[in-house]
This record gives sequence, C-alpha cells and structure tokens, in this order.
Amino acid sequence: MVRNTRQVMVGSVPVGGGAPVSVQSMCTTKTSDAAATLMQIEGLAEAGCEIIRVAVPDEASLKGFERICAASPLPVVADIHFDHRLAIGAAERGAAALRINPGNIGAVERVDAVIDAARKAGIPIRIGVNAGSLDPEVAARPDLSLAERLVLSCASFVKHFEERGFFGVVLSAKAHSVPVTIETYRMLAEQLPEYPLHVGVTEAGTLRQGTVKNCAAVGVLLEEGIGETMRLSLTADPLEEVHVAWELLGALGLRRRSPELVSCPTCGRTQVNLIGMAEEVERKLASVRVPISVAVMGCVVNGPGEARDADIGIACGKGRGVVFAQGEPLRTVSEEDLVDELFAEIETRFGS
Ligand code: SF4
Repeated sequence: MVRNTRQVMVGSVPVGGGAPVSVQSMCTTKTSDAAATLMQIEGLAEAGCEIIRVAVPDEASLKGFERICAASPLPVVADIHFDHRLAIGAAERGAAALRINPGNIGAVERVDAVIDAARKAGIPIRIGVNAGSLDPEVAARPDLSLAERLVLSCASFVKHFEERGFFGVVLSAKAHSVPVTIETYRMLAEQLPEYPLHVGVTEAGTLRQGTVKNCAAVGVLLEEGIGETMRLSLTADPLEEVHVAWELLGALGLRRRSPELVSCPTCGRTQVNLIGMAEEVERKLASVRVPISVAVMGCVVNGPGEARDADIGIACGKGRGVVFAQGEPLRTVSEEDLVDELFAEIETRFGS
C-alpha cells in the first residue's frame, strides 16, 4: 500500500507522493571540519545513502556547512536545536532541508522566522519531535500516553505551520521503544495522512540491538505502507545505518540495490567451513551491483533444492561442491575453487 502523501523535494530526492522510500544517515564528524565531513559523505553516498544530515550546533559549523553543501554529492539537511538563527543561517547557506524540533526552538516568533527562511530558500522542514522536547502544553498532560503526546505535539506544530501557509513538511516523532514508535507512527499516518513520515527508532543502541530495534519497528511500519524516508539510528559507524536500511528494504521486497545472500544455517551434514565461506561470498558481493540472489549451502544433497529460488549458488560437499542455478547443478569443482567459480559464473551471467 502506498500512502497518498504530499511530495517534498530534499535537493533532488523526492520524499512522499509515491516516491521510493529513501535512505538517510547522519554524519558523525564535526561540521566545522568540512573536509572530514565531505569524506564521510562520499563514503555514505557510495554505500547507498541518499540524503545526509549534519549537526549545526554553532557559528563555526555554519562556515563548514556552506562548504559541505557546495561540494556534497548528496542533499544536505541541517540539524538544528535551540538556536533559530543557525537554522536561518543554514537555509541561506545551501541547506536542502532543515530539521528542527519547534519544541526546543523557543518563542513562536523564532519558529516563524525559520519557516520564513525555509520558504525563501524553497526548502522543506522536517518537524522532528521526540520524547525529550514536546510542545510544553502537551508535555504537561499526564493523562496521555507517550505516543499520544508525541502525536499531539506534532499535530500542534503542523497546525501552526499550516496557519503560516507552509506545507513543505516531513514529520518524525521518535521514541526509543519499539512498541511506542509503532503506535506513534500509526497514529501520525491516520491523523496527518497528507504528510510524509521520516521513520526510525531513536537512541536504538549499538549495532546488534539497534539493528533489531530499528528493523522490528520500521519493518512493521513499512509493511503497513507507513514511512516515506528512513534513518535507522545506530551507535556505530553511519555506514552500518545505510547497510542495514538497504538490507531491510530488500528483505521487505521494497527496494533492492545489491545482491541478496541466501545461506543455510549449517547442520550435521556440513563438511566445510561454511560460515567462513558465506562471509567471503558476502564480502565479495559488496562490489556486485545487480539485485540477484546468491546461495551458499552446506551440502550437495539438499542445498541446491533448498535454494531453488536463488539465481545462482554453490553447495558444498567433502572436498568439492557444485555451482548451481535455479536449483540445477552446472558443474562440480574442488572446494578451494568454489567461490572463484561462483563469481566467474556471476560475471558471465549477470556481467558484474
Ligand atoms: S543445506 Fe544441507 S547442510 Fe545446510 S542446513 Fe540444509 S541440510 Fe543442512
């Protein structure tokens, strides 16, 4: 199901209005260090990041921000907290979008000044609400659940933006709890259906826990058609956020950018170091840019049949194995040549 949201442009990337779910991440470098930030952005772009956000916490960052926007291969979103003047400065220096939380920008005149600056620059604003900085009136409502407070807070900010005639808005309302995140975004999708949603779990944790939490929440939401752009926050190298985002999109059958690895869990029939072999295949697949499925199976008897759906694969026996395609064996080769033979076959068949 594709939601019928308004579409906004973040630089050249459409968000909402039926556009593919886009992948975002955030730089961990100092924005004042434009060279280091641009280097990180280049790596993230190569990995498939489509929109990048950088923190703009002070005046020094604004100078770096301008240089970053001028040279970045990706649209750059300025992440602003507290100081509305930095948001205005970022809009004037090439931001593709602003991310603010009106709840911590302060007086309404300051929020309005940011809206006016975005309008003048022709860029959208993401209203990013989180549990720590709700609309003050809403925050003082103990009768509401956290999800209800997040949604009400978002709705009151949206109303203000609409009254000011500004509709180029993307919404996020993040929590670190998976059930709260799911509940919040379901309500946002129902109550503010025309606005594209930026989905993700905030403060999700380190690589393993954060991946599970993000995929549990965002997986459910995307499966319900909720979420037009995503950032899967991890306490890890931001490259991991991009890899996980694409794995999730691929697993849900929404978008695929690179091959899918199909590998068996091994069992008592396995006679090779299959885990090592699967990891080697995964490493080599990182440079393949065709969306095929590639199987690495632990036995010749069951492997090709179990991975019949895979475009191509290998199944390992004792000292030798077979290369197969759609479940049918192509040839038998020695164990040490299996991975090379697999990639030679991928090159021949798929040109990658
Ligand atoms: S493919 Fe073979 S080795 Fe792998 S789990 Fe299945 S039966 Fe076991």
